[in-house]
Amino acid sequence: MIEPGSTIGIIGGGQLGRMLSVAAARLGYKCHIFDPHEAPPAADVAAHFTRGDFTDAAALRAFGNSVAVATYEFENLAVEPLKVLEDKLRPGATSLAVAQDRAREKSFIESCGARVVPWCVASSVEEARAAVVEFGCPIVLKTRRYGYDGKGQAWIRSPDEAESAWQAIAGEPAVAERGIDFFAEFSVIVARWAEGHHFFWDSAENVHSDGILRRSTVPCTGRVALQVSEAREAAGRIADALGHIGVLTVEFFATADGPLVNEIAPRVHNSGHWTIEGAVTSQFEQHIRAICGLPPGSPGMAGRSAIMENLIGEDVERWEDILGDPGAHLHLYGKGPARPGRKMGHVTRVLL
Ligand code: ADP
Ligand code: MG
Repeated sequence: MIEPGSTIGIIGGGQLGRMLSVAAARLGYKCHIFDPHEAPPAADVAAHFTRGDFTDAAALRAFGNSVAVATYEFENLAVEPLKVLEDKLRPGATSLAVAQDRAREKSFIESCGARVVPWCVASSVEEARAAVVEFGCPIVLKTRRYGYDGKGQAWIRSPDEAESAWQAIAGEPAVAERGIDFFAEFSVIVARWAEGHHFFWDSAENVHSDGILRRSTVPCTGRVALQVSEAREAAGRIADALGHIGVLTVEFFATADGPLVNEIAPRVHNSGHWTIEGAVTSQFEQHIRAICGLPPGSPGMAGRSAIMENLIGEDVERWEDILGDPGAHLHLYGKGPARPGRKMGHVTRVLL
């Protein structure tokens, strides 16, 4: 067990690192953030900050020597340099390696007996065209690596768009997926302990636009709720197969044919921000508990329902109005300019 008072390393200094750091501090830990930026959001609320490149093995080794355990809040990290952290890294490098490559991720999910959308590797424009022939339109091309918030994706809505979609993702190695007609999106967030125990929060139904999460509503209702138990079983199997320690998120499409996995994130997730006020134990605190080997907290709901809305780009200008609503829990991430598409904060409302 890593006891309160110890230092926890967090690789990545974005808003997820910031909220992890706040949760860790409440339990008496100190956090050390490792991030290449000058003033990342997490550094404002952490005891220590190293500005370093994610590929700088010497800097990572020094960081590793200063912490009792290290975790990551971001999956687009080179795996090789992290080997200097050895067994201090939780979750381990396998979770990272699988989640950061969409082709490996989908094969892995299928090997766990879960279903994904029809897909294939597309390493050239010819393979993208072949996917159009095989699956029919619409198709979405997604770069195998480095995509997030809908970035690195291009749709092919008619066969003549294959070339321009390939150009739009800059000819990067990709996967081609059939664009599917889901009736909802939802996520399963699970915390797994090293001994293999799983703790699930209620699933959120998630609404995206332009590839970015806008709103999460908990619990799921109606025909979406009917898919949660199958989805949880899949998420539990994926977590076990990864040997995952900490929080793992699995995003699903709810379809007429049952739940299909969209993607996994080996970390706390935007669709779990509601747990800060809406659950007995937040995803951030539970992740800290799991990686430190503490007893688990209850993932049960603190109220009947919760709604989390992201503040994206200029949405953040509404902060004063939101504060005027006494039931609204406002979170601002302390980021610089409110560029379009940038996640600046969120607001959660819990119905008691
Ligand atoms: P990111 O890593 O950017 O979150 P996702 O693969 O989750 O990438 O895609 C972002 C969003 O785009 C999804 O939440 C969904 O709304 C939409 N989307 C992605 N893939 C498909 C698909 N195959 N069919 C229909 N919609 C999709
Ligand atoms: Mg996603």
